[in-house]
Amino acid sequence: MRILLLGSGGREHAIAWKIAKSSHLEKLFIAPGNAGTRLHGTNVDMSATDFSAIKAFVLAENVNMVIVGPEDPLVLGIHDFFLADAQLKSVPVIGPNKEAAQLEGSKDFAKAFMMRHNIPTAKYATFTKDTLEQGYKFLEGMKAPYVLKADGLAAGKGVLIPETLPEAKAELKSMLADAKFGDASSRVVIEQFLKGIECSVFVLTDGDSYKILPEAKDYKRIGEGDTGLNTGGMGAVSPVSFCDKTFMDKIENQIIIPTVKGLKSEGIVYKGFIFFGIINVKGEPYVIEYNCRMGDPETEVVMPRLKSDLIDLLEGVATNTLSECDIQFEERSACTIMMVSGGYPDAYQKGKVINGINSVTDSLVFHAGTSSDGPVVLSNGGRVLAVTSYGRNLEAALERSYASIEKISFDDAYFRTDIGFDVLSKKN
Ligand code: AMP
Repeated sequence: MRILLLGSGGREHAIAWKIAKSSHLEKLFIAPGNAGTRLHGTNVDMSATDFSAIKAFVLAENVNMVIVGPEDPLVLGIHDFFLADAQLKSVPVIGPNKEAAQLEGSKDFAKAFMMRHNIPTAKYATFTKDTLEQGYKFLEGMKAPYVLKADGLAAGKGVLIPETLPEAKAELKSMLADAKFGDASSRVVIEQFLKGIECSVFVLTDGDSYKILPEAKDYKRIGEGDTGLNTGGMGAVSPVSFCDKTFMDKIENQIIIPTVKGLKSEGIVYKGFIFFGIINVKGEPYVIEYNCRMGDPETEVVMPRLKSDLIDLLEGVATNTLSECDIQFEERSACTIMMVSGGYPDAYQKGKVINGINSVTDSLVFHAGTSSDGPVVLSNGGRVLAVTSYGRNLEAALERSYASIEKISFDDAYFRTDIGFDVLSKKN
C-alpha cells in the first residue's frame, strides 16, 4: 500500500507509528506531518485542506489510500471530492463524507440525529439570532449551570458553561447577536447540564459493521486536579476503570449500534472512525458529542493498545469487509502525558530546542507540535510531545512516562503531574 496520511499532530504521529508496523506498507507519506512523523515515512509540505494539491500528489505518487487525521478536511468534504473525481474515485478515503461529518461539524445536526434514533443525550433546543428571546425563555426554564454550544466548529472553544442565568443570557446574546465564534455561533444549542465522569469511545466502521477500539479518558484542563483553562488535552489513559463490561455493553447497545444503523438507515455513508464523547451519569452512558475522527491525545494510547494490523482494518473499511477482520488488543495499560509550552493555552513561544528525546528508552515519544532543523527538534506549538508508556497497570505506565519526561527538556516546558488521578486503580 502507498498511503497518504493527512495531519500534523500527536494523533498523526501515533497513526503513522502504527501503520509503519504493517507488512502491507510500501510507502507512507504524511502531509504536512511533524518532526516525529518523518521517522515513519516522508513528510510532504502540503496543507491537509488543499484538495487540489492533494489530488496532484495522489496521482503523481500512485497513492492508494488516504487517511484523514483531523476534522477540517472531512467537514470541508475531502471524501466527496475524491468520489466526484474520475481519477480519484477508486482511491479510498478513510474518514466520513461531508454529510456524515456533520455529526461533528454541526451540534444541532448531531442532537437531532440522536433524537431521531433514541440515543441517550442531554435535552436541548437550538436558537438563532431571530429566536434570541425564545432562547432567554428556554434558559429561564433550566437549572444552573447552563450549557451553550456554538453549532459549528470553533477550534474546541465553542462550548460555554456559565454558572448564573444573567451570565448565560449575556453569553447567548454574544454568540448569536455579536457572532462571538463567527459563523459557528450563528446557531446555538442550549442543553441540560449532565453531572458525571467522561470517557472517549472509538469505533471504526465501514458503514455496515463496526469494531470498537480500546476506550480512553483524556484530561482537558491545564491545571492539576482538572482546574484552569481547557486545552486540546494534557494526557490520556486506557483502559478506563469505570468502563467495565456492563457499562461498555450499554454503550454498544444504546449508542454505537443505533448510531451505525441510524446513519445507514438515513442513507448516510460513514467510512472511518467515530469518536463518542461519553458521560457516565450514575452508571448510564449519555453522548456529550460526536467527533468524526480519532481524538488527540487519546490516539496516543489507543494505537499502542491495538495489536491488530491497522492497514488490514482500514482495508476492511475501504472494501466493506470490516466484519471479516479480527481485532486484538494489548492487555497492558497505556498512558500518555503531554509536554506543553509554558503559557499554553494562552500565549506561548515556539522554536525552543528540545533535548533528550533519543535518551528515552522506556516510552514512546509522539511528536505533536514540533518541527525540525536538520537533526535538531524544535517546539512548534502549544502541545509539543506526548510521552506514552505501557504498564502492567495504569500506575506502572504513569511511573514510566513520568520517568521518561525527566530525560526530555526544553525551555519553559510544562506538564501535569496528576494524569489518571481520578481513575487510578491497581486493577487497571
Ligand atoms: P463538547 O465540545 O460538546 O465535547 O463539549 C466540551 C466539554 O464541555 C465536554 O467535554 C464536557 O466536559 C462539557 N460538556 C458538554 N456538554 C455538556 C453537558 N451537557 N453537561 C455537562 N458538561 C458538558
